[in-house]
Amino acid sequence: MVSRVISVDTFDFVIFGGTGDLARRKLLPALYQRDRAGQIVGDTRIIATARANLDAAGYRKLAREAIEGFVKPSERDDAGIEAFLQRLSYLSVDAMGDGGWKDLAATLKGAQDRIRVFYLATSPDFFGVISSKLGANGLVTPATRVVIEKPVGKSFKSATVVNDAVGKVFTEQQIYRIDHYLGKETVQNLMALRFANALFEPIWNAAHIDHVQITVAETIGVEGRGGYYDTAGAVRDMVQNHILQLLCLVAMEPPSALDADAVRDEKLKILKSLKPIDERNVNALTVRGQYDAGASADGAVPGYLEEIGKPSSQTETFVAIKAEVENWRWAGTPFYLRSGKRLAERMSEIVVSFRPIPHSIFDSSAGQIIANQLVIRLQPDEGVKLQIMIKDPGPGGMRLRSVPLDMSFADAFGVRNPDAYERLVMDVVRGNPTLFMRRDEVEAAWHWIDPIIEAWGQSAAPPKAYRAGTWGPSAAVALIERDGRTWHEDGAG
Ligand code: NAP
Repeated sequence: MVSRVISVDTFDFVIFGGTGDLARRKLLPALYQRDRAGQIVGDTRIIATARANLDAAGYRKLAREAIEGFVKPSERDDAGIEAFLQRLSYLSVDAMGDGGWKDLAATLKGAQDRIRVFYLATSPDFFGVISSKLGANGLVTPATRVVIEKPVGKSFKSATVVNDAVGKVFTEQQIYRIDHYLGKETVQNLMALRFANALFEPIWNAAHIDHVQITVAETIGVEGRGGYYDTAGAVRDMVQNHILQLLCLVAMEPPSALDADAVRDEKLKILKSLKPIDERNVNALTVRGQYDAGASADGAVPGYLEEIGKPSSQTETFVAIKAEVENWRWAGTPFYLRSGKRLAERMSEIVVSFRPIPHSIFDSSAGQIIANQLVIRLQPDEGVKLQIMIKDPGPGGMRLRSVPLDMSFADAFGVRNPDAYERLVMDVVRGNPTLFMRRDEVEAAWHWIDPIIEAWGQSAAPPKAYRAGTWGPSAAVALIERDGRTWHEDGAG
C-alpha cells in the first residue's frame, strides 16, 4: 500500500538555529523526507540562519551530513538529497544583535504572498527578541506562521512573558507551539481508535477503566545538556508538556469536530479539571527522584550530581505522580504518570487498564483472568495493542490466556512510519494548528505544575535516590502498589 501524499503550496521556511542539534537531527531530515515524498514542490525555499559564518555550500555540506547521519539508508537516495539541498540557503543572523537582518529581509522580499514559516530552533530565551526583530523588520506577513519549541517558560509567570512577547508580533492563530509527541503516529491512532470506532467510547470512563498509566522513560543521562536540565528537571522537561498532552488526549471528551479549537477546548477542560497538588498532598501523590551511579547498556555510569558537577543539586531526574481528573467521566480512575532519566529501558507508552470482569464462569484450572489493557506505545516501537483473554488453542480443556491483539497496521501494509516532525512541519505549512498547543493550554498546564514544584521546594527532604539503570526510587513503586496496582514495566503487555 502506498501512502497518499498531497502536496502543499510553495513556501519559505526560515530556521533560526539552523546549525543546532534540533535542526540537524529532526528538522532537516523531516523536510528532506517530505521533499522526497513529493509533498514539497515548486521553488519552495529553506533558509537556515545562525551566527556561524557559513556560505550556502558550507550549510549544504552540514545538511547532507545531517541527513546521512539521521535518515536510514533505506529511506534516502543521493539524487533526492542533492535535489533537496538545492532548496537550502544560509544567512548569518544574530538573534541578539543587528547583524544579518537586512540580508534576511532582502531574501524574503518579493515573496510577500507566499506561506512563510519562521521556525525558532534556538534557546527559548531568544523567542521574544527574534519575534520582535521579525516584526520590526517588516517580515511578518498575513501568511506567516511562527513555530516555537519547548520549553515555553519555566513557570506560569515566565510562560506568560514568552507568550506576551511572541504575541505582540504574531496573532494566536499564527503561533505554533510544538509538542512533537502529538505528531506521533500512535497518538493520532489513539484519536482514531477513540473517535472512529463505536466500540471504545461507551466504556471509556471510570465505570470501566480502572486506571491509566503514562510513562516516558529514558536510559540516557543529561548528555551534555546539564546546564539546561539542572534548571528544569523531569517535571518541567517532560510532564508539563508531553505527558499532560497525552493525558488530555486520553481523557478529553469527544470534540464536536477535528478542528483546532474544538480539540484544544476539550484538552483545556481536562487541564482545568486536574486535582490540585500542593504542600498538603504532595507527599502522598508525588515522588521525585535523582539517579545515583549505576549501569546502562554501555556499562557503568556516574550519578547525576557527578555528571553535572554540582554536588548540591536537588533537581529531580525522575518523577511519579498520581493525578486525578475531577469530572464525572473520570472520578475514581487515577492517572499514574512517570518519567525519568537513566531508567531501565527507553520507552514511552500509555496503558489504559480496564476493570476486571465482574464474575468468572471459569474454574480455577482455567488460569487467571487478566483484565484487558490497551497499550499505546510511542517509542521505541510505535504500536497499539489490546490485551485480551482467549482460550489457549488446542486440546487440553479450557485454559485461558492473555494475548495482544495488534492494532498497528503500518508494518502489515508496509507503510513507513513518518517521524512526528514530518507531520507537524507540514501541518504548520498547511496552517493546521490542531496538534499544537494553544496559549491557554500551556498556561493551564503550568498552573497545575507550579504548586507541585513549589511544594517540593518548601520540603526539606531531597529527591529520593535511585540507582541508574533501574525503574526509579522504590517510593514510586509504593505510590502505585499502595492502591493495589503495579507499573506496566517490561513491555510484555
Ligand atoms: P543547540 O544545538 O544549542 O542550537 C542552538 C542554535 O541556535 C544553533 O544553531 C546556534 O548557532 C544558534 N544560536 C545561538 N545563539 C544565537 C544567536 N545569538 N543568534 C542566532 N542564532 C543563535 O540547541 P537545540 O538542541 O537545537 O535546541 C533548540 C531549541 O529546540 C531549544 O529551544 C530546545 O529547548 C528545543 N528542543 C530541542 C530538542 C533537541 O532534541 N535538541 C528537543 C526538544 C526541544 P550559532 O551558535 O552558530 O549562532
